[in-house]
Amino acid sequence: MQPACIILSRVPNALTWLFLVALSLAALTRLWLARRQIRYVLAHRDAVPATFTEAIPLAAHQKAADYTAAKSRLGMLDVLINSATLLVLTLGGVIQWLSDAWGSLLQPGAVAHGTALLLSVFFLQGLAGLPTAAYRTFGIEARFGFNRMTPGLFLADLAKHTLVGLALGVPLLLAVLWLMGRMGQLWWLYVWIVWVAYSMLMMMVYPAFILPLFNKFTPITEGELAARVAAVLARCGFKSSGLYLMDGSKRSSHGNAFFTGFGAAKRIVLFDTLVSRLQPPEVEAVLAHELGHYRLHHIAKGMALSAAVSLAVLWLLGQLIDQPWFYQGLGVAAPSDAAALALFLLVLPEFLFFVQPLTSRYSRKREYEADAYAVSHAEPADLVRALVKLYQDNAATLTPDPLHSAFYDSHPPAAMRIARLKTI
Ligand SMILES: [Zn+2]
Repeated sequence: MQPACIILSRVPNALTWLFLVALSLAALTRLWLARRQIRYVLAHRDAVPATFTEAIPLAAHQKAADYTAAKSRLGMLDVLINSATLLVLTLGGVIQWLSDAWGSLLQPGAVAHGTALLLSVFFLQGLAGLPTAAYRTFGIEARFGFNRMTPGLFLADLAKHTLVGLALGVPLLLAVLWLMGRMGQLWWLYVWIVWVAYSMLMMMVYPAFILPLFNKFTPITEGELAARVAAVLARCGFKSSGLYLMDGSKRSSHGNAFFTGFGAAKRIVLFDTLVSRLQPPEVEAVLAHELGHYRLHHIAKGMALSAAVSLAVLWLLGQLIDQPWFYQGLGVAAPSDAAALALFLLVLPEFLFFVQPLTSRYSRKREYEADAYAVSHAEPADLVRALVKLYQDNAATLTPDPLHSAFYDSHPPAAMRIARLKTI
């Protein structure tokens, strides 16, 4: 790690150009895919695909097309705002400026200075994304009838998220910066151990202490739903510490089901919006799919993969952090651990964007596997009916652009997924 007193000049170097090329390519690809998606969806707006003609009325199909197009257009604006923010923060010299500004109050290079620098970078990035986030909720979601959020709740959520983020994030930042400063050449290995431990701790803390700050959880212990859930859990050999109904309808009419926690503390959470819309056998089928992810070790494999990726990424930062050209090329004149971390966290996603089709493909494969598991423990027809209702309620398009879908979609397109279910 460089002592903070070394001051470099900010001159464009090979990394500057590499970053500019990656940033432009990623942005252009994102814009191009969004445009393809809008065109494809609108071109197929006037006819419900054959598989769905009985279940989905034309009006719902058209609503899904318009909703998808509206979201994609806003997504294009997001791409432009994100890229501009990134440029201003890095090559525009804002990180350097913030580092100097905090340096007049706190000792440059010290943990407190680094924490202040990173928090202010995250704050600016969050601020840049706020207008489109508000428009997404009160413009698009409201126009299509999904939003249940009031401006008051939006602001209260924002305040709560910020406070929770600070309470959970600041100790981590302090620990990481401290290790970077004290642990010598192998600091990245220590940071990795702390990061993995922190992630596992969060998986326990989040459902028990954080989620209840935002939503109400009511245990479901009686009735047909509870009985069916208990039966499917028994069939799948799954132990959980309870079934809960979550008041998702407070914010949105989109439905969902998920598991939280791990080990013996696993909870099953169903959104009230899902329960009000699906029949108990359909909820059972959706749950069997989620259980499939557990039983097939998708969750554990996902955690192992992300631990391996974070080790590789931290090792890479360990190699870059002592290189003057790394800072110089990205608009920072005074190297510090915190500046390196900020640059790395901002710039790396632009390079990793091109790996997205691989991760999406991997995720879709696991969805097919969970579907196959689900229909061996529940009725296939129930899962198909549940999926059709969920697609309709979420106004998810039935006719995505194939290339857009291959690039981004974590779940297979509806038609392919249901066709596969019908052959099992
Ligand atoms: Zn799934």
